Amino acid sequence: MPTSTEIDPCDFVIFGGTGDLAVRKLLPALFHRFLDGQIPASSRIIGIAREALDDAGYRAQLREALVGICDARQLDVFLEQVFYRPLDARKDEGWDDFAALIGAQPDHVRVFYLSTSPELFVDICTRLGQYKLNEGASRVVLEKPIGRDLASANQINDAVGKVFSESQTFRIDHYLGKETVQNLLVLRFGNGIFEPLWNRNYVDHVQITAAETLGVEQRAAFYETAGATRDMIQSHMLQLTSLVSMEPPAAFDATAVRNEKIKVLQSIRPFTEESIQADIVRGQYGPGSTPGNSSLLAGYRQEPGVAKDSKTETFVAAKILIDNWRWAGVPIYLRTGKRLPKRVTEIAIQFRKAPHLVFRGQDLSSNTLVLNVQPDEGISISFHAKLPGQEMKLKTVNMDFSYQKTFGGGERSAYATLLNDCMRGDATLFDRADGVEAAWALVNPILEYFESHKPKFPNYAAGTWGPREADELLERDGRHWRRL
Ligand code: NAP
Repeated sequence: MPTSTEIDPCDFVIFGGTGDLAVRKLLPALFHRFLDGQIPASSRIIGIAREALDDAGYRAQLREALVGICDARQLDVFLEQVFYRPLDARKDEGWDDFAALIGAQPDHVRVFYLSTSPELFVDICTRLGQYKLNEGASRVVLEKPIGRDLASANQINDAVGKVFSESQTFRIDHYLGKETVQNLLVLRFGNGIFEPLWNRNYVDHVQITAAETLGVEQRAAFYETAGATRDMIQSHMLQLTSLVSMEPPAAFDATAVRNEKIKVLQSIRPFTEESIQADIVRGQYGPGSTPGNSSLLAGYRQEPGVAKDSKTETFVAAKILIDNWRWAGVPIYLRTGKRLPKRVTEIAIQFRKAPHLVFRGQDLSSNTLVLNVQPDEGISISFHAKLPGQEMKLKTVNMDFSYQKTFGGGERSAYATLLNDCMRGDATLFDRADGVEAAWALVNPILEYFESHKPKFPNYAAGTWGPREADELLERDGRHWRRL
């Protein structure tokens, strides 16, 4: 029973409209918004790229790409609202025509979604400013990554800030559009029973896992310049860390929520060379096989487009410490990687054990609250129950809440939620410039260390949970990763 709000007529412009992200994620998400009645008839979706296409050619391309996942008749109606303008973000030609097209509907909300490499963000925003397309109800959406380190992120934020105000700038991290991620805030701040336990007195540690079974696929050109630290830790993993550990915001609005998230990033103990050596593990997959499939999978260095001596990390595990009153001494362990045994993203809050065990001879694990972000969105809590019978034998059981079972429908597109939010101008689930910069400031020393200390790769087999050192990271603290 999803609920939707009405939105005003909008011109939704996708720079990079022929790219992988646009075709695979953004246009299907917009189509779902259309089916929900949230793309009014006068709204326009305008694709931009250098490829010489006209409206009909772009529609035909999209039709071919989307027809398998959408109802064909409704798709044709949707595509009537889709247009295309060829232009090179770095050249003059085409901009007059594009500006005239946008100018034809002066009352429309304008969303400029930059689904291109971040090197083009400044060029595109500067042109939008020159043509005064930043005026009125205009917003710009910056796809992650914002730059590739702190310096380039600052440069982009400064240049975009000259054209669009902070309230017009939407930095997207699609993890924040996932239902469970939003529900984390509801769980914590909409219920009276969890928040009193959500601190160092009751929580032993937190584990955040984002595991993929896929390898690098066709994205080596991008991934070789990024790696897991830039691709996952700087963005998604630190976003999840902020949400799980932030203080209650004064209100559920963009300013209050983002203020609290940034305080977390500012409280994370900065990494030094010593703490990087001790608390960060990087890995790269070699050949191997996934559980249930005996065929040999290529190692990362054998994937198309990857250098034979690539030093790019496809796995990172990290121990993070937050120096504040709530979390002092409670580690947050992060792990993310490609070619791991299971596709799963979850946040696990591991509570302290009961202080005194009256049930002798029973080795009880601690209670765990798990927020499953994907693929089966839900929340589960483990506790101990008595096994039926005369003896006092205990067993750990789970109480599960499943989004799918309770509310029906399939996995809801995070992009559908976020695209709607930027059309409505609600930036609560988007990042602010200082948030992006705080996240880069944290990972910058790690990137510099990686750059100057060459690793011995590959160091884990495809289909395993990463290098042995990742297990040792927790074992040293008397803990272990959850078996997923
Ligand atoms: P992509 O497939 O390479 O698409 C790039 C798009 O930009 C194409 O439409 C390309 O078309 C256009 N383009 C390139 N140079 C241009 C120029 N000078 N002027 C105008 N248009 C230009 O890349 P992608 O995978 O869609 O990713 C786009 C961005 O999103 C990247 O920054 C990526 O890191 C990020 N991202 C992607 C994903 C994903 O799942 N793909 C997920 C998260 C974030 P022409 O070559 O015809 O110009």
